[in-house]
Parts: sequence; C-alpha cells; structure tokens
Amino acid sequence: MTAATLSLDPISPAIRPTQQDSDQRYRYQHYIDGAFVDPASNAWLETSDPVTGEDWAWVARGDAADVERAVTAAHRAFSEGAWPALSASGRGALMRKLGDLITENADWLARVEMRDNGKLFAELSMQMRYMANYYYYYGGLADKIEGTVIPTDKPGVFNYTRPEPIGVVACIMPWNSPLPLTSLKLAPALAAGCTVVLKPSEFTSASLLEFVKLVEAAGFPKGVVNVITGYGAEVGDALISHKLVERIAFTGGPEAGRMINEKAARHMKRVTLELGGKSPNIVFDDAELDQAIKGAVAGIFAASGQTCVAGSRLLVQDTIHDAFVERLKAFIADVRFGHPSDPATQVAPISTRPQLEKIKSYVEIAKSEGARLVAGGEPASVPGYPKGLFFKPTIFVDVKNSMRIAQEEVFGPVLSVIRFKDEDEAVRIANDTQFGLAAGIWTQSMRRALTMANRVRAGTVWVNNYRSTSTTSPFGGFKMSGVGREGGIAGIREYMETKSVWISTATDIPNPFIRR
Ligand code: NAD
Repeated sequence: MTAATLSLDPISPAIRPTQQDSDQRYRYQHYIDGAFVDPASNAWLETSDPVTGEDWAWVARGDAADVERAVTAAHRAFSEGAWPALSASGRGALMRKLGDLITENADWLARVEMRDNGKLFAELSMQMRYMANYYYYYGGLADKIEGTVIPTDKPGVFNYTRPEPIGVVACIMPWNSPLPLTSLKLAPALAAGCTVVLKPSEFTSASLLEFVKLVEAAGFPKGVVNVITGYGAEVGDALISHKLVERIAFTGGPEAGRMINEKAARHMKRVTLELGGKSPNIVFDDAELDQAIKGAVAGIFAASGQTCVAGSRLLVQDTIHDAFVERLKAFIADVRFGHPSDPATQVAPISTRPQLEKIKSYVEIAKSEGARLVAGGEPASVPGYPKGLFFKPTIFVDVKNSMRIAQEEVFGPVLSVIRFKDEDEAVRIANDTQFGLAAGIWTQSMRRALTMANRVRAGTVWVNNYRSTSTTSPFGGFKMSGVGREGGIAGIREYMETKSVWISTATDIPNPFIRR
C-alpha cells in the first residue's frame, strides 16, 4: 500500500467516517457530553502526515471555554444520572464491551494513528489489539476493589473503609503512543467510577476522536468520557486549574511534567506523572551476546527511539566493548526505511518536525562534546517520500556519562555507548542520572542479575529482555521519571480515595463535658 492509495475507510460499522471537508481533509471536533462539537472560538489546527508531509486533517483548537463545558459535563455525569447509579459490575460489563469493540476495530484505529504519528502499521495493529486487554483487565477489577473492616482500639464503634472514585480526572497525553497511553489512564479511571476529560497531543489527536465513537457504541452514559483537543498551554492550563478536576494524569516530557506538578500543587490536585528517561541498558561480558545485540537494538531503535523507556545509554563491559559496537553497526547497516504501512518497512519516520529538529540538534551537541559518531547521525532520504521525516539509526561511542548526550532525553534513534569495568562502576554510571524509568541487564549469572536488579534505581528492570510490559504489572518512574504508577492493581488505586466510616454501636453517646 503506498501513501497515495492509503485508504482511511473504516472496517467496522461501529465507526463511521469523520466528516471530510471539500478539500478532502478530515475535521475532528471536540467530544463533549456525548456530542461532537465545534470549538467555542471556531479555531482549528492542522495535523500532518509525517511520511508525506501532507496536512490531512483539521483538529479543534480548544481553549478555556471548551474546557469549562467539558469539565462541567464530566462533573454532572459523575454526580448524577446513570453513571453513579451503575454498580461496579455494571461498569465492568461496559468496559468489556468496549474491549470487544477495540478488537473489532483495531486495524482502523491503527491506520488513523499511523497517519498521525507515522509508526509502523504492523506495530500499531498489535498495540491496538493488545489495548483491548486494558479494558478487560480493569473491567474485571472494577468490582474487586474492597474496603476493610478495621479492628480499632475504641469500644462501641465499628470502623470500615470504602474506596471511592476520586471524581473528574483530566488526562493529558503525548504523541508517541496516543491510544495505548490514553487507555492506561482511561481504563482504571472508568473502572474506579471516575469521569474524564481527555487531552491528546496537538500532533496526534485524530485517533482518540475515532476511539470515542467506540466508547459511545459500548453504551457509556454521555459526559463520562470527553475529549478536548488543542495546545498544552491553552487547554492543559485551564484543565489543571479547574476547581472541579480532582486528579491530573499526565504522560509527557519532564519540563511540562514539572510545570504541571507545580500548578497542580497550588490547586491541591492529585497527580500521576509518567515522564521521560535516560535508561541504562547494561551488557556484561558473560551475557548471551546474540540476544544482547537484539536487546540493545530493540531498546533504542524500536519506534525510532521515540519511547519513554528507550535504552538510550548502552553500558558495555570494556572486555567486549569494541566487538559489540562492531556487531551493533552491522545489525543496523541495512535497515529498510519506507512507508509505515508497508510490511517490509523496518524504520518509520520521526513523528513530528520539531522532534526531528531536536534530534538533529542533539547530534551536533554530542559531536561538540567529543562523542564519536560511528553510525547514522543524519536524516535518511527515502525514495517516494521527499518530505518524510526519516532519521538514520545513530550510534555514538566514547561517551562520558557527564555529557549532555548521556544525561538528557533525546527521544529519537540516538544511542550513547559508555564503557564500564565492573559491577560497581556499572551501577554508579547507571544511577548517575536525574531519571529512573527503566533499565536492562544482560548477564547469565543469576547472582549478578539479582544484585544488579536490586542496585539499579529504576521503576522497571528487565533482565535478559527489554520492553516487556503487561496490563497487570505496575509501571512508573523513580526520581524525575515520574510520580505514581500505571497498570496493575496499583493503577486503579490512583483513581480512588479511601473513606473511613465510623458507626457507633453504643447505646449512650458520652457527654463531651464530663471526662470519665
Ligand atoms: P510534552 O510534554 O511536550 O507534551 C505532552 C502533553 O502535554 C501534550 O498533550 C501537550 O499538549 C501537553 N502539555 C504541554 N505543555 C503543557 C502545559 N504547560 N500544561 C498542560 N499540558 C501541557 O511531551 P511530548 O513531546 O508530547 O511527548 C514526549 C515525552 O513524553 C517524552 O519526554 C517521553 O519520555 C514522555 N513519555 C513518557 C512515558 C511514560 O510512561 N513515562 C510514555 C511516553 C512518553
């Protein structure tokens, strides 16, 4: 399938095509209180295809007035009507229905996502199918979050706890995995009984506006799920400071994360922050090197390095360093660039132009710091796609951990290779970063694997694999990589408050003015 013939026709009757303008561009409105509506200001953003450079859709440019409508609708849906009247089991049933609809429409969602962020269709199609599990898992969990009866030291009173939904949640997402990262928030929030206002990245809003058609088709009451699109500063700010929003669930860069944390603190909002990383992928000389090579490549070059867990610092034991780097170079030498819908394509474009510029600037920074470029380092020109945002897999060696290229997140296909001598030095380098999102360890020694997994400061540690995740397992960061956890049972707790209820069983309430 080439770009010219790429069809956006939906494959299931659950999704009807979004309206197209006379210039054939799609037009995506906000979704508020169960209806697609124009932005109050009637302002629109263009969204472009990173492969062809073509502006293919208009997206509503929201502002505080739109946020007000959406939050009011979400608050109404939380406080009255069908949603709070529904049992936890009833919420679970709706969520399982939504999971089924996602499975049926996975390829359609993948195609829209591909057009917006340029990821490989094969990868997206798998991701969309897997995403249904979030709704099955949290749908199943909805009626299993129990309170407790507490044995207190006060006679004549009965005390129990009740987990309750926190209220209206604002979810703010980045552009690299729009729908899966939305679902990591939306599924536990819905299972808990919350209502939500979703704010996708201004670069990749379209797939979420297709997705909410499935939410509607599953039968969720209006106002439970709302979508406002637009720029972070214009929409995000209004959401964070809105008095009816109780929690902010954010995935994005450390800078925006810090600002959001500060603002949320002023308004006493709860936050979940899933931020960036500079994750160490550590290869010892006793590793199975064939596997470690694949793990190093998957760690940094999957999705063109645009993943929060990218193993962007490759720590290689000095005894195998040079040979390992040679094998890495050979592995990536003949990668195939192309249209992400083509099954033969191995490397898709960078998702946005600003991101491509950022990657190029970090290559220059690394060179000026004295790191040695041994592969890539420049955009790739791909026949048929002169405006495509392709960038070659890039490897720097002779990197010192103090360099900016080793300390700052590039969020692109740029690998920094760093030598180490022994376990102690590997731990020191691995932990010498403001981040703590993930780490990889490659060794055949059980003792070493366990010791290293304990000593590395990161929310996720993979031993002899990289990137395994599951709906059932908690994910999140240490240090500047974030606050809170998504996934697993910990994920639903983020959307609940604990209420402690005291019931008197005494026949006589003591007189407060007479101490006994
Ligand atoms: P970003 O921080 O620029 O934007 C993320 C979202 O925040 C967007 O929707 C944006 O509009 C919004 N935003 C920006 N400024 C805001 C503000 N002042 N107030 C409110 N909202 C604001 O991030 P990005 O470039 O879209 O995504 C890349 C980043 O996301 C990387 O740093 C990556 O590591 C991180 N990420 C983290 C995880 C994780 O789970 N830890 C997963 C994926 C991506």
